[in-house]
Amino acid sequence: MVMTKTHYESVDHLQALPRNNPCAQCGMPIPIPEWIEQSDGRAAYLWHCYACDYQFEAIAYFPDDDGGHALAA
Ligand SMILES: [Zn+2]
Repeated sequence: MVMTKTHYESVDHLQALPRNNPCAQCGMPIPIPEWIEQSDGRAAYLWHCYACDYQFEAIAYFPDDDGGHALAA
């Protein structure tokens, strides 16, 4: 079986989940975001530090390389 490049890229946004993001307050690495909200071209991650209980949000923007058909409205 051949893993097609196209299929891999279709799930790339999920695979690109940021990991071990340093806590904005104490610097402790946080393994994975506690909560994720994805929308067109971007994703918001809520990080919750288990060391100091600090919560912060980070937003990632993805390049729009899907042809832009969803933006045709
Ligand atoms: Zn912390």
